[in-house]
Amino acid sequence: MKKSIILGGAAALALATTSASAGTGHQWADLRWDIGGATPGADALQMKISHVFAPPSGTGWSGTWDKYYSQAASPTQRPGALEKWQSDFSTDLPSPIVLTEITTQSPRYVDGYDPETGDPVTNAEVTSSLCPGIPGEVLVCSDHYSTDVGWVGIANIDYDPSTFHLLWATARINDSYFRDARYSSAYDDEGQREFVMCHEIGHTWGLGHLDEAFYNPNKGSCMDYTANAYGDGKRSKDNRDPGKVDYEVLLSTTMYGDLTSTKGGGKKGGGGRPGNLDPFQFREVGAVAPASAGKGRYGEIVGFDSEGRPNEYVKVINSRRAIRTFVTWARGYRPEGSR
Ligand SMILES: [Zn+2]
Repeated sequence: MKKSIILGGAAALALATTSASAGTGHQWADLRWDIGGATPGADALQMKISHVFAPPSGTGWSGTWDKYYSQAASPTQRPGALEKWQSDFSTDLPSPIVLTEITTQSPRYVDGYDPETGDPVTNAEVTSSLCPGIPGEVLVCSDHYSTDVGWVGIANIDYDPSTFHLLWATARINDSYFRDARYSSAYDDEGQREFVMCHEIGHTWGLGHLDEAFYNPNKGSCMDYTANAYGDGKRSKDNRDPGKVDYEVLLSTTMYGDLTSTKGGGKKGGGGRPGNLDPFQFREVGAVAPASAGKGRYGEIVGFDSEGRPNEYVKVINSRRAIRTFVTWARGYRPEGSR
């Protein structure tokens, strides 16, 4: 695997500004929501979020994705992804994310964008099959998107290339892999469901990948690809939840926080994290695409997973809009542009 160059935040920004194809290879994907005048470190990311999940249908698994998305319904149930991302779940760091869940009467109509093409959609009904990008919001969807698409989960992030501020973000989870008999033995376990929900939603904050190999030891974060979300309890950690590393990036000044205001001493104080954290020096994932990688299904290829499959794309719409797409491919699927 090609190793990425370690870049500081300013250098990474400059590089990414010069070319839409410049992947950065670190966990901060250069993207973030505009937090305006919010106080760093004090509930800095106030997000609207909504979801639409297709109801269970057909044979096989009859549950829904709600329990993996929403708050735990009982004290004995593990929390859903929203609760994990906005609490200090499994870490001693405060989360900078505060979510406001939009609950609306169905049907809901919006002016938004097709999540893949970026084309405007006017007065469009919010459905799990369309899953439109809605300005200022995160929308999470699940449906039977079929196994033809090849992905288990996908996140589309629309942003302004001049500021790297997000306009909208969507995350979709492909229920086909969890229900179709040919695939469900590989995917239909609680761990994979928790992992993929946590992972795709993590992208909507602007996070990239912590690691892009499925079969190496887990790093203890749902932003690390895995074929076994539970790990082995020893060297390979549990990847079902956000990790401390994810919180550290979110809490960095390049995203939504101010680590200097949290525990661990001053920024230049030396010693342990998080006080003097440089989030970029240990967050490289090393799969930056060469400039010659060319175009793939969702735009210009800017990253590959450890199996040589393009997993990150940029589609430039105009000078003020580009869509970055993160794809979690199913095992064995080889999309266009694989090497
Ligand atoms: Zn991903």
